[in-house]
This record gives sequence, structure tokens and C-alpha cells, in this order.
Amino acid sequence: MLKVAKFGGSSLADAVQFRKAAEIVKSDSTRRYVVASAPGKRDSHDEKVTDLLLQCYYLAKEKKNIDEIFERICSRYRDIIAGLGLDYSLEEDFSSIKTAVLHRVGRHYVASRGEYLNAKILAKYLGFAFIDAEECIFFDEKNRFIPDKTEETMRSILSLHEYAVIPGFYGINTEGSIRTFSRGGSDITGSIVAAAAGADIYENWTDVSGMLMADPRIIKDPLPIPEITYRELRELSYMGATVLHEDAIFPVRKAGIPINIRNTNAPDAPGTMIVPKATTNEVETIITGVAGKKGITAIHVEKDMMNSEVGFGRKVLEVLENHNVPFEHLPSGIDTMSVLVTSKSIEECKGAITAEMVKAVNPDSITLVENLALIAVVGRGMVNTEGTAARVFTALAKENVNIRMIDQGSSEINIIVAVEEKNYEKTINTIYNEFIK
Ligand code: ASP
Repeated sequence: MLKVAKFGGSSLADAVQFRKAAEIVKSDSTRRYVVASAPGKRDSHDEKVTDLLLQCYYLAKEKKNIDEIFERICSRYRDIIAGLGLDYSLEEDFSSIKTAVLHRVGRHYVASRGEYLNAKILAKYLGFAFIDAEECIFFDEKNRFIPDKTEETMRSILSLHEYAVIPGFYGINTEGSIRTFSRGGSDITGSIVAAAAGADIYENWTDVSGMLMADPRIIKDPLPIPEITYRELRELSYMGATVLHEDAIFPVRKAGIPINIRNTNAPDAPGTMIVPKATTNEVETIITGVAGKKGITAIHVEKDMMNSEVGFGRKVLEVLENHNVPFEHLPSGIDTMSVLVTSKSIEECKGAITAEMVKAVNPDSITLVENLALIAVVGRGMVNTEGTAARVFTALAKENVNIRMIDQGSSEINIIVAVEEKNYEKTINTIYNEFIK
């Protein structure tokens, strides 16, 4: 058994959190490779070290003084080292990083130093080797991640160490410059390390006990999700329910490795298992989760005998393509086609798009319906259960929620409804209560 454990920013925000993380690692000798984030917020008013580093970068770029903010960064690390009672100094690193910032080295380099320093402390505290991500995570000349070379190199470096800590978030490009993933990217590093190590499980330690069935800002104390498939997760994260960086899924998914979302502050909670294939489709709750997003516009195009007009759909979509607008959904009838897009994506080209569609397909009418929300009811349990859609629609009808559109994926693991934005919270509440209470 081999486990890769990634600890997020809040799990390594100060010495107290470091101790908890280290205890978790030490309590199981199969947790051999540990991926560290930069120190995150200690409370809601605090700042993440990555953000402080970026502030320094921008100040230096404008030739402004960075002393005060840089000092705050150093003292975060000094406090951690002192709080852990370590005989260790990062002063040399601090001064070379500061010199680099003042010489205006790249933004990615500056942003990456948060994990670099934190991983060094964690390695020291655990007594593990420190493997710098710049030795084994690669980007090409266009700064695209190179999976094969990374996996091969990572695997051979890992094989030299039984236990090691690797900083998350960054690697190196062909020109020899540090490159970071997008924000939250330590999750991706963890996934890459897990795949390269051939881990049995990728543990992602954070500050929540797994994924919840609904947004806790809308539903009070929603139930946790014990097990979710990669596909269900994709459906829910598309709607904005995130616990993990989206790109973190690919390396482990390809390798068939499950991800376990765990809580550093409640290490006994089992958290959520994200699995390639579920152990059972008999989900007690039928649905796995419900999530949604606001800010959707529907473009309804109507034309008599549309169904027999070859190329109709393509012409409509081509107009969007020309404006670089991706579409979200495409529910269609015999003589109507509806294209759902985010309101933001057409903000500046609404008029042009409608005019061009008129020209392209000569429709009987085109209507834009704005201020819609999409809500996805997701669950592999729905495949084997009859009447789930009926329950969703009946429950919403009882609450007088007008459903503007319905879309069910052919895989039957989701039902998506569009409602007016003002009914967003009510819709989520109604669906959650229908299946959970
Ligand atoms: N420290 C980086 C960020 O704040 C990466 C991470 O935490 O995953 O985005």
C-alpha cells in the first residue's frame, strides 16, 4: 500500500496545523510522499502567502518598496519554524528570493516560493527528503504541461527516496524558468505525484470533511458525500461545486487511482472517496448531489419545419463560434432550438449575435431569455431508479417553481433544469428536501 498525501494551505497555515498534518503522515507509514501547499489563511481576515508574494511581485514591478510585505512573509515562516521547535533557518532563502523579486524575476517564480519554503520546513520536520518540483515537473516552450516527461522523471526520482516531501503548484519550462499551474494548482501536483508513484490512493487533506451534497450557504448542514464517481464529480464541479482543482482529476483518473478528500482538523472523518467506478450504484439517497449556477441566458431560435433544414444547428452555432462564445447546453424541440450560454460571454456581442443569426438561418423568431439559473441533480443512483425526474418536477411544481427548460444527459446520471434566477435557492432547497428529508 502506498499513499500520496497533499496538504492544502489551511492545513499548513501555522505551526499548530503543521503538527496536525505531521501527525497524520506519521500515523500511517504508507503515507510516503507528501505534497505541500503554501501557508494559507489562519482565519478569515488573514492573507495567503501566495497572495503576499504576488503583491511583492507587483510592487517591485512598479519599483515600489516591498520591505513591509516581504517581512510579513518571512515572519510567517519564522513563526512556523519556531512553533515547531525546529533548529532550522530559511534566512538564506529569504534573502535570495528577495533579491530575485527586486530584480523583477518572473511572476511564476515569485508565486511558487510559498510552496517551496513550506515544503522545505515540512520535510525537515518529518525527517523526509525534499524533492524540488523543478527537478521533475515540466512545461514546454509554450508553458504547456508535459505529462510523459514529467511522469518518467518523477518516477525515477521518487524511486530514490522512500519518504519525501514535494512542493505543490509549480515546475520548470524548457527555458529553465519556473512555471506555476493556475491557482489552487497544488492539487494537480499531488495528482501527478500519485500517478507517478503508482499510489493506491491520493489523499487530499483540506479543511472540510469531504464534499457536501449541496452548497452549505443554501442548505443548512448538508449531508456529506461518502463516495462519488469521477463522472458525477465532473457534473457537479461544472456547476461550481468544487473541492479540488479541475485539472487535478486527469493524472489520477488515467491511472485509476481514487482520491480521498479528508479534513486535517477532523482526521477520523472518512471524507469523500472520488472513484473511477463506484462500489455500488444503490445510493441510499438516490441522488449524489445537487448544484447550480446563475448568470445564464437562453437564445431561443424558432422556425417552422426547422427539423428538415439541413445545417440549421451548425449555422446557429457558427455564429457563436465566430464570437468565441462557448455554449453550455443545447435543449431542442422540433421547430425550436435553444442555446444556453453564460450571460457574461455574450455581454458585449448580444446584438451582433442576434443579427447574425437572423441572417444565417432566417428564423421566424429569436428571443433572448436572460437571468436564468441552471441546476443539476446528479447521481448514478438515478439510472436504476424509476421516477426520479417525476419527483424533481412534482416537487418543484408544488413550490410553484416554473421550469423553463429541462435537459437530461444520455448517461442518465444528471437532470438539468433551468429556472429563473430568483428561484435558484428555492429550487436547490426543494430538490434537496425531496430526496434527503
Ligand atoms: N498556493 C497556491 C494558491 O494559493 C496553490 C495552492 O494552494 O494550491 O493558489
